[in-house]
Amino acid sequence: MFQNLLERAMTGIGRRNKMGVIMLMDLDRFKDVNDTLGHHNGDLLLQRIGSRLQSVLRDTESVARLGGDEFAILLPEVPDRQSVVPVVRRVLKVLEEPVVVGGLALQCEGSIGIALFPDHGTTVESVMRAADVAMYMAKENRSGYEFYDARRHEHRHDAGRLALISELRRAMDETELVLYYQPKICLNTGRALGVEALARWHHPERGLLSPDEFIPLAERSNLLRPMTLYLLDSALRQCNAWRSHGIEVSVAVNLSMQNLIDLRLPNDLARLVTSWRLPPGSLELEITESTIMADHRRAMTILSRLNKMGVTLTVDDFGTGYSSLAYLQSLPVSSIKIDKSFVLTMAEDPSNATIVQSTIDLGHNLGLKVVAEGVENVDSYNKLAELGCDYAQGFFLSRPLSPEKATLWLEEFTGVVREEEPSAAEERTLGEWMIEAPLEDTPLDEAPLGEAPA
Ligand code: C2E
Ligand code: CA
Repeated sequence: MFQNLLERAMTGIGRRNKMGVIMLMDLDRFKDVNDTLGHHNGDLLLQRIGSRLQSVLRDTESVARLGGDEFAILLPEVPDRQSVVPVVRRVLKVLEEPVVVGGLALQCEGSIGIALFPDHGTTVESVMRAADVAMYMAKENRSGYEFYDARRHEHRHDAGRLALISELRRAMDETELVLYYQPKICLNTGRALGVEALARWHHPERGLLSPDEFIPLAERSNLLRPMTLYLLDSALRQCNAWRSHGIEVSVAVNLSMQNLIDLRLPNDLARLVTSWRLPPGSLELEITESTIMADHRRAMTILSRLNKMGVTLTVDDFGTGYSSLAYLQSLPVSSIKIDKSFVLTMAEDPSNATIVQSTIDLGHNLGLKVVAEGVENVDSYNKLAELGCDYAQGFFLSRPLSPEKATLWLEEFTGVVREEEPSAAEERTLGEWMIEAPLEDTPLDEAPLGEAPA
């Protein structure tokens, strides 16, 4: 809605010789509040700040929370640049007044980046990016607020993560944005039944970028939807190629919170699945607990429609959110994925092993399949099998692989029937392969992130 309002405010404003303002604000040290006082109090703080911001704005002006601790304010029309300063001061002042949450009086501080349109950008993307750059500078200079200034700010771009936003669209056109695939193994049979698609960006100068470096940027600009559609299309194209090659796997794609409040998603998906002539069950969607909880009524509407279509749904990073068990039961999902923070150390840390065990039991009691991610060694692999976990995924089995390497891997572990005689290597079982080829040595292992692709 905020993007729509901004788009509307930007339309024709230059022709009318007027200007508008976008302010991006980020709370300093908000993470500490969440970590020490809990998410509930973090939420309360955000709500209080939201209403305070509203109280200093006029009816025609809007405030939105973009995500995390980031707010945006839109002043659709101002007479001149100077008139923005009193508004910014008012905003900073209401922020400074202590907010009582969890029995404590908290004093917040924020950094505000200000961009004017059409001066600093003529598209939603470019003006948001300018405000983002200015906010980054305000944070760095501890100045409270900064107006975007191309001369002072642009040369800092290359160092920052911010310039990436404008490059992201190009990345899709130039196919720099790709999916790597990490297999999920059935612990019972040792076979790969599915893969998880993980986004990678082969940036021409920066090398291989991980999703954590660019997905948050896509979420903040209006690129998330085109990016998600692009990635879903690539994943389904790959799934179709594998299936016509005899590799019967499903492909799981991760969704962001914003995807799950977009009511167009089910139709988009139906169109894509049909255009690749795939059964809907060959697509799986991974959605984190906190994503579902953020706007749970709307998420429920979308999830139910996806479920009816036959798409498989998994709760990702299970154990890190704070959804109630009663709520979990009502979700139309078929599996939960135990977060890797519990699985990584389960072999050494008995309390994590207990959490893993309880989660497996809980999942099974609710009629769900349970997946463990972050399986890095044989001990946790064996332990998970012993605990009755259904699927495992992790570096021990395979790192995320490029499509070519994933194809080789899957040919070996899905039992695909090939025209030519299978080689000795292809006849090995997964267990034998794991013993013979420990993680470090396997030729199928992809270069770790950060290294230039071969
Ligand atoms: P996630 O869904 O929790 O994905 C698992 C992450 O753990 C992946 O990182 C994967 O490479 C890593 N991983 C897998 N096995 C192991 C292991 O044994 N040990 C350790 N230490 N790590 C392991 P990656 O690929 O960097 O992805 C990070 C996050 O980015 C994902 O977390 C997912 O939430 C998000 N993401 C990835 N692709 C997409 C996408 O296409 N769209 C959206 N919206 N989010 C995506
Ligand atoms: Ca995932």
